[in-house]
Amino acid sequence: MSTRRELDFSAFPPGSVTEYATLVCLACIFDIFTKQLGLAPRSAYSEIKRYSPSIKELTSRQAVRPFFDSDEKHPRCPYCDAAKRWHARFDTQAIEGGKSSEAPRRALIKTLPKKGDQFSVLEVKTDRRAAFFDWLDTLRLNLDLTEEHWLLDSTRSFLERREPKTNWTEVFEGLRAIRPSARISEGWERDGSRLFLAPPLYNEALLVQYLVSRSHEHGGRTLEGRLTLAELIGRLRRGGYLTTHGITATDQFEILEKLLDTVAGAGQLKLYFVVDRREFLDKVKSVYASYAN
Ligand SMILES: [Zn+2]
Repeated sequence: MSTRRELDFSAFPPGSVTEYATLVCLACIFDIFTKQLGLAPRSAYSEIKRYSPSIKELTSRQAVRPFFDSDEKHPRCPYCDAAKRWHARFDTQAIEGGKSSEAPRRALIKTLPKKGDQFSVLEVKTDRRAAFFDWLDTLRLNLDLTEEHWLLDSTRSFLERREPKTNWTEVFEGLRAIRPSARISEGWERDGSRLFLAPPLYNEALLVQYLVSRSHEHGGRTLEGRLTLAELIGRLRRGGYLTTHGITATDQFEILEKLLDTVAGAGQLKLYFVVDRREFLDKVKSVYASYAN
């Protein structure tokens, strides 16, 4: 197998790229093409090489045949029990469109090899709300909620998304606590090992933590401890956050909807999916070689 050059996403603002990976079982795919569709192995091979999974198949958290997810070192296909040499991995990166990601996106796409469909780039329109929930999902998967540190980590991810131009790695270096500030009305300031956030920013960080950790019975966990939705809203109301953002609804779920519009942003957004097909193409070739014999 050739040495594979990894794509470099370091030029993108943090939080603007979401990674997905899924395994596909080639034994299942060959089975579908030869037994169900009745193709000869050679024609199946050329069809499969061209096969391009849908965005949904590549990014779904619940995979269906011939896709599956596994963290095991030597997984078996959950559908046909095929061993690892029959599996190929698709890596997909979703880049959020926007001013700050445009230049690095164009530069990245230029570097992709054009030969043999090794990569595909797909453009999809979505809305900011959906993109925000995808981001939350990814955040939840990357955090360890049993470690106290996740509260700092989630605040940092939120700030990276919110203010991509700031070097948050530097700001969070040696940080021990995050507090709302009584002195500043916007932005943030670092004081010793503590980070002070303006109250609106702090409240939005709490909302993100609530959304990441909420469970139906117990509410969510935040820098302010465990909060139910009603308690979180009460806090935002007292801090003047609802008035500032023109939220006049009284029903808590309606208020949550408006809060999501505020934090996620409203309107359309473009997502660019970069699909790495290299392992798939390599594996299809080697599997076909053994299949045809
Ligand atoms: Zn299979």
